[in-house]
Amino acid sequence: MKSATGPCLLLLLTILGFAVQDVQAAKRKYTIPCITICSSYMTGSFKTASKCSKTDYACMCTDEIFPKSYAMCVDICRKEGQASAWRSLEETCEAAGVSLKRAKAEYLALTETDYVDQATISSKDVVSAAVKPTSSIVLQNLLARAEKNHNMKWSEYYGNILNAYWGFLILLAFGRLITLRLYPRKGSRPLSVVSKFRELVTLPATWGGKHIEPQRLGSIPVNIIPTRWQSIVVFFFIALNVVFLFVDMWTVPKNTIYYTDAIMRTRNIADRAALLGVALLPILFLFGGRNNVLLFFTGWSFETFNVFHRWIGRMMFINFAVHGWSFTYYYRHVGEYKGESNFAYWKEQILDDRDNYLGIVAVVLIGIILVQACYVLRHHWYEVFLVLHIATVICFFATAWHHVKPHNYLEYFYTSVAIWGFDRLIRIGRILLAGPFSKANISVCGDAVYVSVKPAVHFQPKPGQYAFLYVLRHNFWESHPFSIMETRDKHYVFVAKAHKGLTKKIHKSVTKQDGNAAVNVWIEGPYGHSYPIARYETVLLVAGGIGITAIMSYALDLKRRNTPQDVRLYWMVREQGSLRWVQDQLQELTEGGRIDIHIYVTGETEDINEKNHSQSESTSMSDLSEKNSAVVSKLHAKYNQRPDIRSVIGDTVRTADGSVAVVSCGPGSLADVCRKAVAENVDKGKGRVDYFEDAFSWA
Ligand SMILES: Cc1cc2nc3c(=O)[nH]c(=O)nc-3n(C[C@H](O)[C@H](O)[C@H](O)COP(=O)(O)OP(=O)(O)OC[C@H]3O[C@@H](n4cnc5c(N)ncnc54)[C@H](O)[C@@H]3O)c2cc1C
Repeated sequence: MKSATGPCLLLLLTILGFAVQDVQAAKRKYTIPCITICSSYMTGSFKTASKCSKTDYACMCTDEIFPKSYAMCVDICRKEGQASAWRSLEETCEAAGVSLKRAKAEYLALTETDYVDQATISSKDVVSAAVKPTSSIVLQNLLARAEKNHNMKWSEYYGNILNAYWGFLILLAFGRLITLRLYPRKGSRPLSVVSKFRELVTLPATWGGKHIEPQRLGSIPVNIIPTRWQSIVVFFFIALNVVFLFVDMWTVPKNTIYYTDAIMRTRNIADRAALLGVALLPILFLFGGRNNVLLFFTGWSFETFNVFHRWIGRMMFINFAVHGWSFTYYYRHVGEYKGESNFAYWKEQILDDRDNYLGIVAVVLIGIILVQACYVLRHHWYEVFLVLHIATVICFFATAWHHVKPHNYLEYFYTSVAIWGFDRLIRIGRILLAGPFSKANISVCGDAVYVSVKPAVHFQPKPGQYAFLYVLRHNFWESHPFSIMETRDKHYVFVAKAHKGLTKKIHKSVTKQDGNAAVNVWIEGPYGHSYPIARYETVLLVAGGIGITAIMSYALDLKRRNTPQDVRLYWMVREQGSLRWVQDQLQELTEGGRIDIHIYVTGETEDINEKNHSQSESTSMSDLSEKNSAVVSKLHAKYNQRPDIRSVIGDTVRTADGSVAVVSCGPGSLADVCRKAVAENVDKGKGRVDYFEDAFSWA
C-alpha cells in the first residue's frame, strides 16, 4: 500500500496535467463574430479602385469605401455581434493612427445614396463606391466560417480520441495487472479460449519468432520487430490516425474563404493533420520518460512504452508532413500565388514569414529525429544517439512552439514541458534519496566489473529491478542501467560486463588500480518491474550470460522467502570464469538445496574444478569450490553443450503441479526461444502459465 502512494500521487498529477490541458483547449472559442465575417467579406468579395492594400488599415480607415461597406455588412450580420464588430473596427483604425470619420449609423445613412449593390456586380468588377452585400453573401461567409470552425473543433476532438485510444488500452492493462496479481494463487487453468488468445496474440513475436533478437541486413542488426500484441496496438493506432485525417469534414459549396473545393479540402486536411499531430505531443513525452507513472499502472515494460513512443513519434512526423504539404498546396493555389513563380511564393510565404519557416524547420527536425533514432544508431552509438536525440528534440520543440504560438494551441506544449520537467525532477530526487555521496567498491571480475555499494535506507529495490549508475569520475552525465542484486549483508551489487563505452572505461581504470577501487557514484533508481513470481507453484528461471544478474536477484529472493515452491534455474554462459560474477550468490543459492541449479558452460570442455585458469581466475574458482565443495556439485554444471530450452520449458509446464512462471533474461535469441516455447505450451499445464522477460536493451 505504502509503495503505491508515490505512483498514485504521480498519476493524479499526470491526470491533472492532462485535465488542465483539456480545460484550456475547451475554452477555445469557435464562435463566428460579425467582425470575422465582414472582414473576410470586404477583403475577399469585391475589388475596388482604391489604392489601399488589404492590410493597410491607415489607408482603409480614411477611404470611405471600406467603413461604409463594412457598416452595411455588419448591419446585415447577426444582431448580437454588431456592436462589438463596429467597436473592433474603431479600435483597429485607432491602432493604425486614424480615427474613423463617422459613427456607424452615419455611414449607414450615407449609403442610401452612395453604394453599389453586390447583386449587380461580379467579383471581377472594379468598383469605386461602397458595396452593399446581399444577405446571401453574408450567409455564405457565415457558412464558410462555420465550416472552418467545425473542422477545427472536430480536429481537436479527434486528437483527443487518439489520446483516448491509449487511455483505453491503459485501463485494459491495469485490469490485466490486477488479475495477474490475484489469479495465480487460485491455481486453476484459464479458459481454453483465454489460453488460445494468449498463444496467438499476446505472447508470440509478430512473425517468425524474432522479437528481442534483431532483424539483420547481412551481419548488421537493423531493426527489432515488436511482439504481436504490440504490433496490433500500433496497427490500430496508425489506422485510427489515418482515418481521422480525412473523416467528418464539412464542406460548403461556393465557399467564400477557400474558393475551390480542392483548396477547401486540402486546407481542412492541413488543419486536421496539425491538430492530430500536436495532440500527440504530451503522450509522446509521457511514454518516453523513465518515470512514466503508467509503467506502474499497466505493468508494461519500459521497452513496450519505448515501442509505442517511437510509433507515436513516427505518426506525429507523418501528420506534420501532411500539414506542411497541404499548406504548400493551399498557398500555391489560393488567389494571389496562382500561376506565379515558385520564388514569389517561397519568398513571401516562407522566407518573409518567420512562423511559416519555423514550422518547416520543425518538420525537418522531427524527420531528423526519426532517422537518428533508428536501431542501428541506437544500438551502436547509444550515447551519441542520446545526446543528438535530446538536442534535436529541444530544437524541434522550440521551433514548433513558435510556429504554433500565434494559433493558440500552446497548452499541449505546456503539458509536455511539465511531463519532461517532472521526469527530470524525479530523477534528481531518486539520486538524492539513494544518497548523492555514495561510495562504491569496484573490482575487476574477468571481463566485467563488480560494483558493491551501500546506498541510503531509501534505496529499497525489489528483485528484478535495475538502477542507473553514474560513475562520477567518468563522464558524470552518463548513466547506464544495471540489474541490482542484494547481498546478505544488505549491500547492493551490480555486475557490469565491459562493452565498448563507459563500461570499458571503468574496467580499464579499475584494472590499472590493481583491480580494486573506491569510487563515487550516483544511483538513480530503482526502476523496472518486479514480477510476482513468488505466487507461482513452479518458477523456471532462464539466464544467458550477464542476464544472470536480473535472474539471480529473483532466485535469491525466492530462496530467502523459503516458501514451498519448485524453483529451477538454468544459466547458459560461455566461459566458466564468468561464474565468478555471481560466486557468492551461487553459494548462497546452493545452501539448503531449495533451488535446482543447472549451469551450462557452452564454450569450454573442462570440468569446473580442473580448468587451469590464469592466476586470478583459478584462485577465485577454487575459492568457489573450497568455500563449499557442495556448491559445485549442486550446480549440475555441464560443459560444451547447451540445453534445449524449448523442451525444458515444455517439460516444466507439463509436469508442474499448478501455475508456472517462466522468467528469462539474456541474449535476444534465448529470450525469443523462451517466448516461443511458452506460447506453444501456454495451455499444456495444470495451471496458469506466464512469461516474464527482462531484456538488457531497449528494443
Ligand atoms: C534494464 C537493463 C538492465 C541491465 N542490466 C545489466 C547488468 O546487470 N549487467 C550488465 O552488464 N549489463 C546490463 N545491462 C546492459 C548495460 O546497460 C549496457 O551493456 C551498458 O549500458 C553498456 O555501456 P557501454 O557504454 O559500455 O556500452 P557500448 O559499448 O557503447 O554499447 C553496448 C550496448 O549497450 C547499449 N547501451 C549503451 N548505453 C546504454 C544505456 N545507457 N542504456 C541502455 N543500453 C545502453 C548499446 O545500445 C549497445 O547495445 C542492462 C540493460 C538494461 C536496459
